[in-house]
Amino acid sequence: MLSGSRIGGLLSSTAELLFGKRMIIAKSQKDLDKMRAVGELIAEVREALRAMVKPGVTTLELNAVAEKMMRDAGSIPTFIGYKPRGMVPFPYAICASTNDAIVHGFSNDTQLKEGDIISLDMACTLNGFVGDTATTIPVGKISDEAAQLIRVTEETLALGIEQCWPNKRVGDIGWAIQTHAEKYGYGIVRDYTGHGIGRSMHEAPQIPNHGRQGTREKIRAGYCFAIEPMLNLGGPETRTLDDKWTVVTEDGSLSAHAEHTIAVTENGPEILTLTKDQKRELKASKSETAAA
Ligand code: MG
Repeated sequence: MLSGSRIGGLLSSTAELLFGKRMIIAKSQKDLDKMRAVGELIAEVREALRAMVKPGVTTLELNAVAEKMMRDAGSIPTFIGYKPRGMVPFPYAICASTNDAIVHGFSNDTQLKEGDIISLDMACTLNGFVGDTATTIPVGKISDEAAQLIRVTEETLALGIEQCWPNKRVGDIGWAIQTHAEKYGYGIVRDYTGHGIGRSMHEAPQIPNHGRQGTREKIRAGYCFAIEPMLNLGGPETRTLDDKWTVVTEDGSLSAHAEHTIAVTENGPEILTLTKDQKRELKASKSETAAA
């Protein structure tokens, strides 16, 4: 069973084995500063890739830019060489998962085409701490149903993050995600989950994208989570391709994925994987709300 551990969304059966009894590591203020630094760095990479996505671009080109940005900033691409027991090492800096691919897609030299959607998942390690983020990006003009899937996936991520206050429970996160996704009839991927994060990409707890309020572990200040809903237009079932990594929807339907690394503070959730500009905008909109 341990052979199934993966990188983007963590394989849920494996996480249960790995983390079932494991302590959740609360971060010190010093650790949190390092989590902020790596979070901002990986967010800059994500936004650079978002700006590149258009018809004609290949995922190998995206991967090359991501790897260069990570290394130039003095960080290590966390995914490269990631090798759970019994698995082949993951070869790329990013997971590039197009259309019916959910997570863990390999980069290749196929040109993206108008109407595709592409999930880009990436992580790097800086000063011993990991930042992990993902987003799903439209390639040119996409169908209304694909656009809605992406929008709702981002909304479920935001709703999940809103639950991350001290004394709430991990089950509250999954509940918030599930409740919103089910309004649209989307399949919620259950085979892969979010996770704690820090010095390791995958720490306890496992964070499912479905659940009941008031269940699972109690959330405390200092915890850092990677929350990552994966939603399908069709059913929730998954299948892994012969490359041993790429996970696709069993029914061939489109899938979207969104992920942030967050820290739980006494004042609620702090999203770590925002760029400098995004943090500035967030601050401005918060002070506007306060002034109104
Ligand atoms: Mg992750």
